[in-house]
Amino acid sequence: MTVVTATVTRGRLGGRDARTGTRMRIVSLASSSTYGNAYLIGWGSTYVLVDCGVSLRRLEQSLISLGVSPRVLSGIFVSHEHSDHVKALQLKTPFSTKYNIPVYAPRELLMAGLGGLGALPCHALVSGSTVQVGSLTVSAYGKSHDAVRPLMFRLTDPNGTAVAVVTDLGEVTQEVYHGAHNADYLVFESNHDRQMQLTSGRPQMLIRRILGRFGHLSNDEAGAALREIVGERTRGVMLAHLSMDCNTPAQAVKTVTPYLRRAGFGGVLAVAQAGVPTILSAAMPTACHQSYTALDAFGESAGNADT
Ligand SMILES: [Zn+2]
Ligand SMILES: [Zn+2]
Repeated sequence: MTVVTATVTRGRLGGRDARTGTRMRIVSLASSSTYGNAYLIGWGSTYVLVDCGVSLRRLEQSLISLGVSPRVLSGIFVSHEHSDHVKALQLKTPFSTKYNIPVYAPRELLMAGLGGLGALPCHALVSGSTVQVGSLTVSAYGKSHDAVRPLMFRLTDPNGTAVAVVTDLGEVTQEVYHGAHNADYLVFESNHDRQMQLTSGRPQMLIRRILGRFGHLSNDEAGAALREIVGERTRGVMLAHLSMDCNTPAQAVKTVTPYLRRAGFGGVLAVAQAGVPTILSAAMPTACHQSYTALDAFGESAGNADT
């Protein structure tokens, strides 16, 4: 197993598809309650976002820095209505409207009109939905979180390579296990260190919410789940949605690594930086690795720290 403790902004993580020479592009644009969450998934000329919980300006800048025009996006998949996942849609002119991008969101959420989504033209998804967006097949699975029918997504390219994006969940249900199992790539929540959470000095109600069935996964819970979820196909795991107050990249890696070793995982383990794009799989192979310390983003000033 290779542990990437520094971000590879242009790298060779992941394998190239043997049949076509194309491979899936997977980039975390931002990953935390404070900086928001947005994950870019691409194959060929198809690009989609899973969540867009960052400011419009930040989202545009991140995409352009990766050479992806917002105009080419084929869809935005919304996992749930918390603002760290939909911020760019909660605007007078939402990101999706500005660039004419179809939005896919939980049906019950649309019916409730929450998160600013009521006014947007959206495609409704339920657990079990599968939609084709360009070259990507996207399947939705229910998960356990304090939101309206929240979903996780598994995105599969035409060659069968799959990435599962799994954040914001208090427990790993059979449904999540099924949606994520043996995916080639996993973007997986490792939100907090339980001890740091318990001694954080936060209000007891908030701690109870985060540790509860509808909250967030601890490092140990993420490790235990990943031990069961990674399979022989899995070649990259990116720990995501780390708490800036109650976790560190080093702590998350230290806790999760033994579980992955026990599972016989031989791929790459990376950590999504809070506010800086982090690549799990690059579309084009390049020998150029450029590193940031994983702690750089955590040194930035915090905004509305939630979890
Ligand atoms: Zn979140
Ligand atoms: Zn949430």
